[in-house]
Amino acid sequence: MLTDRAILHVDMDAFFASVVQLDRPELRGRAVLTGYDGPRGVVSAASYEARAFGCRSAMPMAQAKRLCPDAVVVKVPGERIRHFSSAVFEIFESVTPMVEPMSVDEAFLDVTGSARLLGDAVTIAKHIRKRIHSELGLTASVGVSFNKFLAKLASDMDKPDGLTVITPGDVGRVLPVLPIERMWGVGPATAEKLKTQGVRTFGDLSALTQKELEQRFGKHGDRFYRLSRGIDDRPVTHDCGAKSIGQEQTFDRDVDDRDHVRSVLLGQVQQIGRRLRKHSLKARGVTLKIRFGDFQTVTRSGTLANASDLTDELWQIARGLFDQWARQEFVPVRLIGASADRLEAGSGQMTLFTDPDRVKKQRLDAAMDSIQDRFGAGSVRRGAGERA
Ligand SMILES: [Mg+2]
Repeated sequence: MLTDRAILHVDMDAFFASVVQLDRPELRGRAVLTGYDGPRGVVSAASYEARAFGCRSAMPMAQAKRLCPDAVVVKVPGERIRHFSSAVFEIFESVTPMVEPMSVDEAFLDVTGSARLLGDAVTIAKHIRKRIHSELGLTASVGVSFNKFLAKLASDMDKPDGLTVITPGDVGRVLPVLPIERMWGVGPATAEKLKTQGVRTFGDLSALTQKELEQRFGKHGDRFYRLSRGIDDRPVTHDCGAKSIGQEQTFDRDVDDRDHVRSVLLGQVQQIGRRLRKHSLKARGVTLKIRFGDFQTVTRSGTLANASDLTDELWQIARGLFDQWARQEFVPVRLIGASADRLEAGSGQMTLFTDPDRVKKQRLDAAMDSIQDRFGAGSVRRGAGERA
C-alpha cells in the first residue's frame, strides 16, 4: 500500500481509566482518575471526561483534583490491567509476529508481511480496532504509516478511537506544522531550549541544513534532520533471537509516587513473562533500569535460582530490586524499565525435582495464557495483591 514497509502503532485510549469504567458501569461517562489519592500521588490515567477539565496522566493527583473536583479517584486495578494487556497483545500477535511492545497498552506492529493474507495495512488496522472493541469493550487509536516515527505521530492525531494514515505524500503537509514537543526525544526542557533558538515546529527544524543542525544540536542534530523530514529506518524489533526481553516507560515528568512506579513495573514484568512463554524462552537474570530527571541512570540486576518464565518468579526479583532501591535511595523517577536477560531456550518440560509450588505457578501461567488465547478477555482472573 504505502511503500516497502507497513507499520502500525496501536495505543489503547486512556487504558487504565477505560478498564475501570468497563468494570464499573456506574463510572461510565464520569470523570475518572486512576492512581494513588495521596499528597504525593500521581495520575496514571485520566478518562476522557476528566481530560476535558485539563487532567492528564503523570500530573500530580492534587492538581488534577483541583482541575476536576468531581472526578472519582480509583486505585489502579493491577490484575485487570494485566489481564486486558495480555488480551490486547494476543490480538496484535494474531496479525503478525513482528510486535514490539512499548508499554502495557501500546505497540508497534510491522504488518508488511501480513498483507497477502490479511489485506493492506489500513484493513489490518480496522480489523484490530474492531476486535479490541467487540471482544474487550475497549477502544484503541491506530496510526498507519511507512515507519515507526510517523505511525506513532499518526496514532495520536485522532484520539480517542481514531485511525490515521500518513502516506509519503502526506509528509510534506502534515509534518512541518507539528509543534517541536512532538519530536521523539524532546521533553519539555529541550523544547524550551529549542524555542529560545527560534525552533517551534518541525518545519523550523527542516529549514536548517544537516550541517547547521549538527553545529547547533551536536549528537541530536542528525536525528532532528531525519525525523523532521519523516525519515526513520528503525526496525520493529520483536523477541525471536533476542538477547534480552524488556520494556521501559518514560514519564512526562519526574514521578514522586513510588507505588505508581511500582505498578508500572509490575505491568512490564507481566508482559515480559508472557513474551518469554510465547517464545519458549526462560530468563536467568532480571534487570531494572531507573532514570532520574537529570538523565542519570542506575541499573539493578538480580539472578534467579533457576532460569524461569514464570511471571511470579520474575516479579519476586524485580520487586525485591525495586523495593531495596526505593528504601535506600529513592528519588523521583523519569523512566522505569525492566528486562529479562541471560535467556535460555525453555524445554517446555518440567524438571524432575520441581517443587509443587512451582508446578502450580507454571500451570497457572500456562492456563492463563491458553484461556486468553481461546476466549480473550473476561475469561480469567488470578491471585490478588502483590503477587504477580
Ligand atoms: Mg495509551
